[in-house]
Amino acid sequence: MHPSTELVHFDPAPGDPLRPTATPIYQTATFSQVDADGQGLYDYSRSGNPTRSVLQQQLARLEGGCAAFVFSSGMTALSTLTGLLEAGDHIVTGDDLYGGTYRLLDRVSRRHGLTSTAVDLTDLDAVRAALRSRTRLLLVETPTNPLQRISDLRGLAAICQAHGCLLAVDNSLLSPLLQKPLELGADLVVHSATKHLAGHSDVTAGVLAVKDPELATRLAFLQNAEGTALGPFDSWLLLRGLKTLSVRLERQQANARRVAAFLAAHQAIKRVHYPGLPGHPGAALHRSQAQGPGAVISFETGHLALSRQVVEATRLFSISVSFGNVCSFISLPCRMSHASIPATVRAERALPEDLVRLSIGIEAAEDLLADLAQALRPRSQLQPDQPRARQVANNYL
Ligand SMILES: *Cc1c(COP(=O)(O)O)cnc(C)c1O
Repeated sequence: MHPSTELVHFDPAPGDPLRPTATPIYQTATFSQVDADGQGLYDYSRSGNPTRSVLQQQLARLEGGCAAFVFSSGMTALSTLTGLLEAGDHIVTGDDLYGGTYRLLDRVSRRHGLTSTAVDLTDLDAVRAALRSRTRLLLVETPTNPLQRISDLRGLAAICQAHGCLLAVDNSLLSPLLQKPLELGADLVVHSATKHLAGHSDVTAGVLAVKDPELATRLAFLQNAEGTALGPFDSWLLLRGLKTLSVRLERQQANARRVAAFLAAHQAIKRVHYPGLPGHPGAALHRSQAQGPGAVISFETGHLALSRQVVEATRLFSISVSFGNVCSFISLPCRMSHASIPATVRAERALPEDLVRLSIGIEAAEDLLADLAQALRPRSQLQPDQPRARQVANNYL
């Protein structure tokens, strides 16, 4: 079955004699048991809840895994992932990485005895060189966020298999509709479901999907032992958002292709990072492992002041961290989503301070292009009252 069909065709309420066509919100913490031995499908919502179960099964199916687990945020999913390791273990990860993941590994996991090394994951030799005897996990984002670098997932899976460590792929930027890491050899898929999967910026949630039943048992244990699962109402919101993932993403990606082409041809833009552009160094590799370039674009203007101007002068793009929403977002990663990476580390990793990130929504492409064109005009041509106009527009929204 095509994923677009899978997204809307599933049993919304297994075992419910009323046969609802949408999943009910089982907003209950406890379930009565049929006898004193505690017999019953569910007992306590930390351990299991029917709304969450439908969502988890749906996510496992979409990622091609044996099981999936939903958490209160993407960070909780990542933190649970590190819970699979023991003190003294080592993690290899990328040097262009979501800021919150960097912070988790650097300031939380480290205190629990886990060490990590960040390398350029586009270079398989660098990855091999970073492995140690206690390396138990390779954590990858491809495309990376925000620089959109592409890593060879099949190549990384082979390295992990030879070394006997787990390969986890943070697939937030693409979703299973565009990339299925488990089919390419990964052991786990991580999502910030806050992004594309939910799609409406109305819920924070995270996902771990796995291929191996033994790993699934360990994650189910951690989800229950640590009490990190997503609540019934948020599970329902995510399930509802997920149904329209394919129509949202198709439109967002079609818009993103047009925006990327527009930016690449614009004289005020120094460099555009988007794997859908023919000049992107990882474009061919990306096509070999993914079904599309997604809806996130980043670009450099060469001048922090100009980048700031663009961010503040757009009217339709809201100045927001995050991506994957139906409305377009614009941000300066070094000041916003990636500010938790110290400036010295950002400089070492060549993360340009003038980098602007766009998350493209489902608006009409012409409106987005017109908005970017006016925001990129030399400052003297901008309306003097524009920042205020923007303020009003945002307050109104
Ligand atoms: C947002 C994000 C996260 C963290 O997810 P939250 O839902 O915000 O906790 C992790 N990885 C990537 C790639 C992200 O973009």
